[in-house]
Amino acid sequence: MMKPHASPPPSERAVPGGVPVAVRHSQLNDAMSDTSTPSLPELRCSSKGCIAAAVYAVKWNNPRLHPPERRKTWLACAAHRDSLASFLAARGFWRETEPLPPR
Ligand SMILES: [Zn+2]
Repeated sequence: MMKPHASPPPSERAVPGGVPVAVRHSQLNDAMSDTSTPSLPELRCSSKGCIAAAVYAVKWNNPRLHPPERRKTWLACAAHRDSLASFLAARGFWRETEPLPPR
């Protein structure tokens, strides 16, 4: 009788398909944290795990934390614009979604 011993090695190279990756220089910064890279012209989507270029600004405000005129901004790609906005809208935070000016 054989033991079911299925433990595939963690694949570091597994890249989810179907993601439009427009950012090539991410490989250059793999070794370093690029959270403070000043020469990163691309605005990226704020959605967790998404590296697509942002094309929308989702403006929101938390009335418990922010004065009414204050606007926080989440950047969003076309695919996540609606999900980010509805996440905020469900909490009463969403104010407006604006297309980003072309860069
Ligand atoms: Zn996105």
